[in-house]
Amino acid sequence: MSEILTDKYGRIHNYLRISLTDSCNLRCFYCIPEENYASTPTKNLMQPHEIETIVKTLVENGINKIRLTGGEPLVRKDIRDILKVFAQFPVELHMTTNGIRIDELLPQIIATNFSSINISLDTLSREKFLKITRRDYFDKVRANIDLLLQHELKVKINVVMMKGVNDEELVDFIELTRSNNIDVRFIEFMPFDNNKWTSNQVMTYQEITDQLARSYAFVPIAGEKHDTCKLYSIPGYQGRFGIISTLTAPFCSECNRIRLTADGKLKNCLFSKHETDLLNPLRRSEAILPLIKQNILAKAKGLGGQLKTDFTMIQPEVLQNRSMISIGG
Ligand code: SAM
Repeated sequence: MSEILTDKYGRIHNYLRISLTDSCNLRCFYCIPEENYASTPTKNLMQPHEIETIVKTLVENGINKIRLTGGEPLVRKDIRDILKVFAQFPVELHMTTNGIRIDELLPQIIATNFSSINISLDTLSREKFLKITRRDYFDKVRANIDLLLQHELKVKINVVMMKGVNDEELVDFIELTRSNNIDVRFIEFMPFDNNKWTSNQVMTYQEITDQLARSYAFVPIAGEKHDTCKLYSIPGYQGRFGIISTLTAPFCSECNRIRLTADGKLKNCLFSKHETDLLNPLRRSEAILPLIKQNILAKAKGLGGQLKTDFTMIQPEVLQNRSMISIGG
């Protein structure tokens, strides 16, 4: 086990979430700041050979699970080269995407051997999709989910649950799992820079299970140590559903995750203020391993050291963080 990737609380980090870009072809109101969002110029993003060097260093020190994310990972012009880089690592590989470019990139996606692909889809209504994402891609995303299923790729659907936005669609999402072997994962709505989060919009883990218990006799599925998703099955249903309860039942004590932003900054927690630049030192030919170690040692015990455990007390305006689109979800 790597000492480099072990923090001062004894947590061993073997899971890297890497953002490939902070650009996106959607404009989800809860993810991207409304006012003049500018994505990072290409020259300041990690290039494929730089991604390869940083990831190789991390894999040599214990990372054995990687998730590609963004922004929207599949909008990068050099995504085909990047997928080839990741296909060579001996790791369990996953991706989170909005699904829009899946059909265009299907051969490369199949060749990359993903263990699962998470598609973000917050509504099953075409009109509501347009309101949430400010783009008209609902039919494309739905068709691409079917395409992945036809090719027997493991599909998970991420749904950020927000009161007054999509909370009435819980049952509709569950019905997707009746005859499809997919996992639907409901995510508690989290505060980030400029995302207009208020605590009364959060639909909690408890509220989701209470509401679903009125319609279904669901059964908990025993999870693994590092799972962030509490999973359930419904007798007779092919798929499963889960809840990611970051705000009301966080999983920090078992956290095994680190994040790398598209501009090459290491973040030891989704909510950490602190970032460690790896890209510029790499460009100056400096050693990055000591920087990685320092970053991991600085990891707070829980919630980035800045979120309140009672989410109703969180004041989003005092949090020091990036927007979700520029961290990488
Ligand atoms: N573009 C890709 C996509 O749409 O899946 C990957 C990036 S996106 C930031 C990753 C995930 O973060 C998505 O499932 C998205 O819904 C989720 N997300 C973004 N903002 C969030 C928030 N404020 N609270 C909870 N989840 C959020």
